[in-house]
Amino acid sequence: LSMFWGPIRNLSNFYNKLVTNLSAAERIFDILDTEPEVADREPVKSLPPIEGRVRFDHVSFSYSDEPDTMVLNDVSFDIAPGETIALVGPTGAGKTTIVNLISRFYNITKGRVLVDDMSVEDVSINSLRKQMGVMTQDNYLFSGTIKENIRYGRLDATDEEIVAAARAVNAHAFIMEMEDGYDTQISERGVRLSIGQRQLLAFARTMVSDPRILILDEATSSIDTHTEILVQQGIESLLAGRTSFVIAHRLSTIKNADRIFVIDDGRIVEAGNHGELMEKKGAYYQLYEAQFKNIA
Ligand code: ADP
Repeated sequence: LSMFWGPIRNLSNFYNKLVTNLSAAERIFDILDTEPEVADREPVKSLPPIEGRVRFDHVSFSYSDEPDTMVLNDVSFDIAPGETIALVGPTGAGKTTIVNLISRFYNITKGRVLVDDMSVEDVSINSLRKQMGVMTQDNYLFSGTIKENIRYGRLDATDEEIVAAARAVNAHAFIMEMEDGYDTQISERGVRLSIGQRQLLAFARTMVSDPRILILDEATSSIDTHTEILVQQGIESLLAGRTSFVIAHRLSTIKNADRIFVIDDGRIVEAGNHGELMEKKGAYYQLYEAQFKNIA
């Protein structure tokens, strides 16, 4: 699975615009080439099977060594196993950076990120990422059958498990409508599939891998109403029972979250569920009035 691991890129970043015309494979290698992976720290321990508690303990972070360039400022939170957290806030606020620190794409400048009770910097990157799922706005499908694309989530998954995962995220019905069902060949960029269908396949792949911690950078692309409902339900079943961080763009996801963190200028400026934050009439309320209430 390591092949698909790269930090989540903010879509507003210049980088993404540069690479949109490359094939998925080229983009992956591009990411691997440009992104220096952080290294395991000796002596390295393996992260044992986790329940999925995630804590930030006074985390500050800068992408550079220059002074006064902190992108996160003293961020602390404690997420219970199974909780769903929606991250909202303006572009550049630090949402992507927060999730990229959980999967340890960068060394933390100050403070600690803990999974269960282990600092992510004390465990092997491989043992950490094996228990995490990251879904970005680009769903990397490769040329092969639908079944192979789903199985990529866990190579020893049985056919039954693949079908069960596809059913759970609403992908089964459209797969069965295709000529060869699960054996249908898709091309590298999944051109024969709609955006919604590609998302559902990516959900099925993640469902099969069954991670304890899930990071979802929710797609903003508009899809037809019917598929939108399938995707919403798919997301709900995907998030159930896992610790989930969603950089949220769907109102349904935001409303369903156990807690919403409003991020601004590298800080959590508000936290609570939809009802609580609406009552507060603060930052969330303003975002809602300006933005969210107009989206699906
Ligand atoms: P959000 O996801 O809320 O839009 P980000 O976490 O992507 O915000 O960005 C937070 C800040 O960090 C922004 O000022 C952004 O320009 C900067 N940033 C993001 N990624 C990088 C990077 N790889 N190198 C340097 N600065 C970055």
